[in-house]
Amino acid sequence: MTFSTLGLSPDLLKAVADSGYTAPTPIQVQAIPVILNKQDVMAGAQTGTGKTAAFALPILHRLAEQSGAEDSADCRAIRALVLAPTRELAQQVYNSFTDYGRYVALRSAIAYGGVSLTPQISEIKAGVDILVATPGRLLDLMFKGVVDLRQLQVLVFDEADRMLDMGFIDDIKRILKQVPKERQTLLFSATFDSAIFDLSKTLLRSPQLIEVDQRNTTARQVEQMVYAVDADRKRELTSYLIGSKNWHQVLIFTRTKQGADLLAQEMCKDGLKTESIHGDKSQGARERALEEFRQGELRVLVATDVAARGLDIDQLKYVINYELPFVAEDYIHRIGRTGRAGASGLAISLLSPDENWLLEEIEVLLDCRLPQQWLPGYEPDLTKESAVSRKNSRTSQKRRAKERAYGKNTDKRKR
Ligand code: AMP
Repeated sequence: MTFSTLGLSPDLLKAVADSGYTAPTPIQVQAIPVILNKQDVMAGAQTGTGKTAAFALPILHRLAEQSGAEDSADCRAIRALVLAPTRELAQQVYNSFTDYGRYVALRSAIAYGGVSLTPQISEIKAGVDILVATPGRLLDLMFKGVVDLRQLQVLVFDEADRMLDMGFIDDIKRILKQVPKERQTLLFSATFDSAIFDLSKTLLRSPQLIEVDQRNTTARQVEQMVYAVDADRKRELTSYLIGSKNWHQVLIFTRTKQGADLLAQEMCKDGLKTESIHGDKSQGARERALEEFRQGELRVLVATDVAARGLDIDQLKYVINYELPFVAEDYIHRIGRTGRAGASGLAISLLSPDENWLLEEIEVLLDCRLPQQWLPGYEPDLTKESAVSRKNSRTSQKRRAKERAYGKNTDKRKR
């Protein structure tokens, strides 16, 4: 399969070739023709599958094809809106639209919170065809009368599950009141649970359901390793791994903001240049840290799940789960930061005895075992392990038995 058989215009094919893509990914093969055909889509696709191009390319094609007055700024209207949960993801989507749209006469703009409204207002007022926005900032702009969605033709929800997790449902409902009922709606989500299905019922009309096999995602290129280690030796092991293996550009996940800050400080003491990013840091500080990390000036970046959402770092090779996430799906998002689009990656999870039950949940979700290993010198103290892990494992078993009894094995896992 090639991009040219998918029905995209020569301008877009040229941009795709510039990006170095030789063949469409499975989600692109399935979604592009359906979107070009103006149908609604409900797509199950994780990050790393090429989902952004799967909606950006056909949207650019559709809008560029429409004849008329698009060339004049006065006549431009927002015809496509992409809603994304975080600024980082919004930025990544916006970059994709500008990259793929470099040979078509369409304008895109981005709007997210935490930064001044003024430049975003001037950009939008200059006339845009495509707007990528986080829900809160979009509402601000709508209330100010800067954004008019009456001409909207395509509405995209990117990472819809995350938007709901982050509590954007009321914002979404408010936005929906202002968009035309006659429109194409595309919903992308890494997971499907009842909340997503409820939302989809009010949003989509006879959607085409597209699901790419999880094994077709780039997660397959990610080697996953689990090191069992005591919690109080995790920091030492992390520094040892990074230092002894001479890793550069390592992204580490912690569960909490305080944990991220503390770890970053400790890593610096170990001589590894490290910064942390999380929701309490200013947008400027986050962007600076990211840029330094991208440029290779920063060896290690410690992030919380929300802060790392949407991070797109080319060639990122190493991800360390310093603590396993409480939500198993977050594991997939985390390791999806590496091994992107064909490159190889390594995801290491540091597992303390009290986290065994979290690993079990991840294994259920992935439908595969992640064998544990010990690094000589960092073996966990098994005498400490027993009580906590036995209790957790029993709790976990009990919960699963209960779920079976009530027939409510979580939908997320079933997908
Ligand atoms: P996404 O799932 O949209 O976050 O995309 C993940 C990565 O895949 C991005 O870095 C894209 O540039 C890249 N990508 C998207 N489509 C292709 C393709 N057909 N071939 C190779 N890389 C791709």
